Amino acid sequence: MKPKKCPKCKSDQVVPILYGLVKDHDTWEQSKRGELILGGVKVGPHLPTHYCKACHHKFLDKEAAKGRF
Ligand SMILES: [Zn+2]
Repeated sequence: MKPKKCPKCKSDQVVPILYGLVKDHDTWEQSKRGELILGGVKVGPHLPTHYCKACHHKFLDKEAAKGRF
């Protein structure tokens, strides 16, 4: 996966937001390390797909959102 850039501050401190129930241990570990954000159990076409750790901006990446539903 190529690194995303924040559309607001152009930082590359961007992590994916994961939705749904997290059952596997690796995902929990990744979220603890700040490599991804857990978005909870939500569904919707307009939910943000990425989170910027630099400016706390959440945004929707169309490419990543494709195939989600
Ligand atoms: Zn940002």
